[in-house]
Amino acid sequence: MSAYKKILIAVDVCDDYQEVIKKAMKLADDPEWLHVVHVVEPIYYPENYMGGTAIDFQEKTVEFAKSELDEIATKHAIPPANRHILIGKAATCIHVFSEENAIDLIIVGSHGKHGLQLLLGSTATAILHGAKCDVLAVRIFD
Ligand code: AMP
Repeated sequence: MSAYKKILIAVDVCDDYQEVIKKAMKLADDPEWLHVVHVVEPIYYPENYMGGTAIDFQEKTVEFAKSELDEIATKHAIPPANRHILIGKAATCIHVFSEENAIDLIIVGSHGKHGLQLLLGSTATAILHGAKCDVLAVRIFD
């Protein structure tokens, strides 16, 4: 029986997330306990910018992320209400979301890049440092 009942999986839909999901599935007795989140970094453009390209690109990025996240979540029976696309800085969005939704465990991938600074990876390190709940870093072998 898992000690965690509300688990947030941070998924980079453009990266290797399989190990992260696999670990989460082993921890949760019920897929309803799992939430998946992907954060889209905002595209900044000048205040007086009138063209549509940057806005279109942002919308397409969100659409792409949503469809990828849906595919991943459906494969693992994670309910539609537990799939979240957020816009902002990954670690900040994940911290705010976790606090507002009483998440008790965040699961994040960690790349085994060399060097102390890259031991966890930049996003994983940022998530770990500001989190108010437990964080599990799942090693991703490149
Ligand atoms: P990185 O620090 O970029 O190597 O990413 C390590 C881990 O941080 C990934 O395996 C994900 O768990 C998480 N992560 C990175 N980028 C995002 C993102 N845009 N949205 C959600 N989680 C992310």
